[in-house]
Amino acid sequence: MDLKEQILSRADILEVVSEHVSLKKTGSRYFGCCPIHKEKTPSLCVNPQMQTWHCFGCGAGGNAIDFVMAVQNLTFWDAMVFLAKRYDIKIPERRPEDTAEGLRAIAMYEANKQAQRFFIQELEKSER
Ligand code: ZN
Repeated sequence: MDLKEQILSRADILEVVSEHVSLKKTGSRYFGCCPIHKEKTPSLCVNPQMQTWHCFGCGAGGNAIDFVMAVQNLTFWDAMVFLAKRYDIKIPERRPEDTAEGLRAIAMYEANKQAQRFFIQELEKSER
């Protein structure tokens, strides 16, 4: 299991998002005001089953790492370090950017994220 998988299996999306947003439960999901585009009516939706979040207002979304990146304005790696420290996960000494393998992993991650975002949007559409 790589660092990203360890973090995502340990970090709870509700806990991570709740640190920045006060969430209200609606059905099986939680809603709150999006801290990214600073709104007054809640359009940020957290899905604890899928461990994902999505904002209907600005279209941002993803997993716990994406949330930390967006809200704290961190790089992918720094967001992972932040969550790893919080959840007591050992961080490898080398930054993934330092290795060719790491660069490939980051490129894959970005591609996955795009696909995931599309999937979430489609899912939200069909649930509405
Ligand atoms: Zn938003």
